[in-house]
Amino acid sequence: MVLLNPGPVNVSERVRQALVKPDICHREEEFSELLHRIQTKLLSAFVPGAESEYVAVLMTGSGTAAVEAALMSSLPHGKRMLILNNGVYGERMSQIIGLHRLGVSELKYEWTVRPDPERLLLALRQHPEVHVVGMVHHETTTGLLNPVHEVAEIVDNQNRVFVLDAVSALAGETLDIAKSHIYMVVGTAGKCIQGFPGVSFVLVRKGFVEKMRAYPKRSWYLHLTHYIDNEGRGMIPFTPAVQVYYAFDEALNELLEEGVSNRIQRYKKMATVIREGMAKLGVKPLLPVERQSNTITAYHLPEGLSYHVLHDRLKQQGYVIYAGQGNLENKIFRVANMGALTEGQFGGFLNAFEQACRQK
Ligand SMILES: *Cc1c(COP(=O)(O)O)cnc(C)c1O
Repeated sequence: MVLLNPGPVNVSERVRQALVKPDICHREEEFSELLHRIQTKLLSAFVPGAESEYVAVLMTGSGTAAVEAALMSSLPHGKRMLILNNGVYGERMSQIIGLHRLGVSELKYEWTVRPDPERLLLALRQHPEVHVVGMVHHETTTGLLNPVHEVAEIVDNQNRVFVLDAVSALAGETLDIAKSHIYMVVGTAGKCIQGFPGVSFVLVRKGFVEKMRAYPKRSWYLHLTHYIDNEGRGMIPFTPAVQVYYAFDEALNELLEEGVSNRIQRYKKMATVIREGMAKLGVKPLLPVERQSNTITAYHLPEGLSYHVLHDRLKQQGYVIYAGQGNLENKIFRVANMGALTEGQFGGFLNAFEQACRQK
């Protein structure tokens, strides 16, 4: 099955084979070494040249676990968080903070609109109680790319902390974490890094780790400094999904061999193949090209075709597309191009799509 959903993704045979390793105990040095290898590779992939300024904190759980850990661990007592919300994942950040009864404010936008840095600057000047700003890099809801560098610059100039959900962006979009002084960046194994779902991580700036130690502990499982202290000694505080970590390590080998910027270019090229093919078939994208990411395109459903019918016809031919969420459900469908897929497979998808539209 060719997965055109934004994670889990198709992985290479090499990554799949890496699951089949001997059983090990996570309290033994074999696991410490594995953990250390993964951390080192994450830092060299995503903060090259500034490896010593960041720590990579790994945890077992899907991307949301790491997002929740980053949010709950970064807020001092009595301060507020400001979320730039323009999609399901921005909304989720707000909901997480709200659920824990911590102070949250929002700058809310239509799902097809980018947050506006001027409005953020104004809000930060007016609200000294806001300590942390949260935003999604690539809003998976629509495939919209948010202005991460502009926002990071304002957050840094205003001496606030930036928590970035880059779960669907890392290894798919260009991001200079260290240069932009982003304190926390959340990622996952199972999207553009082309590993399996089940391990996620937060890249944290070291200077900020010391500050975080003074913040309240709000969760047993998701308290970041607890992980940082244990992982500093080569341990994970809870039982990790050991086999998934092995596959993650292999996926990172693959990523570093390919090169992060080559990976990004490959995704960009595959997105172009899909976009040109769909344009020829007259299918209309939700967003103008300058707002689109390298890895997801949202399309209006063709006239007279429901999502379920389209989905089922394509699945019969071996391709899984993805539905719209929230108020875009039944209006759009999404095609992701993350994962170990070839140009030929996208050509096959376009043929299958044309047939699915013609079928009566
Ligand atoms: C996939 C995704 C997540 C995490 O989702 P999980 O299902 O928990 O892995 C978080 N944020 C964004 C932007 C995502 O695309």
